[in-house]
Amino acid sequence: MALRELKVCLLGDTGVGKSSIVWRFVEDSFDPNINPTIGASFMTKTVQYQNELHKFLIWDTAGQERPYFCTDKEEQILYHYRFRALAPMYYRGSAAAIIVYDITKEETFSTLKNWVKELRQHGPPNIVVAIAGNKCDLIDVREVMERDAKDYADSIHAIFVETSAKNAININELFIEIISHPESSK
Ligand code: GDP
Repeated sequence: MALRELKVCLLGDTGVGKSSIVWRFVEDSFDPNINPTIGASFMTKTVQYQNELHKFLIWDTAGQERPYFCTDKEEQILYHYRFRALAPMYYRGSAAAIIVYDITKEETFSTLKNWVKELRQHGPPNIVVAIAGNKCDLIDVREVMERDAKDYADSIHAIFVETSAKNAININELFIEIISHPESSK
């Protein structure tokens, strides 16, 4: 059986659930006290789909989020440079980027647009973008409408799903959509 490798990086603000999504996908478990990753963590998972083996090489970013959104100028510059220094490690050779926001925090959806811009400017030209609206188990405190996020994702030709790492909603589906996307095999 053919084996195909796909590098995927995760982007998005601290606390939106990037590590939890990876943990759910790779280990099929959820740890509410997951340790915030310092720097980047790297995990792999191989899945069989349509008679092919797909090995995901997953880069989870942490510690250098919010390159544009700090209000303090000095802090903003510092974040910018820390992120800039590390970004090539995430982007280089990536087939896809999963940009995560938290459906209960509007500001994480606003920042997402900056992540898209950042990726378009500095990422590989044909990188597949997938947007994940995480924590969809918390609909009672939702701040971002699913329709608005879907419309935005459509406008930039991105994959879109709402996920819950906690309740295992749409996590495998998210990665399968990436496999199925025609651009991800280029
Ligand atoms: P990261 O900083 O983006 O990697 O986010 P983490 O994975 O560390 O998650 C931040 C917090 O959100 C943790 O307390 C998680 O337990 C919680 N969390 C992550 N995913 C979900 C989810 O799908 N639902 C709920 N209710 N909480 C979540």
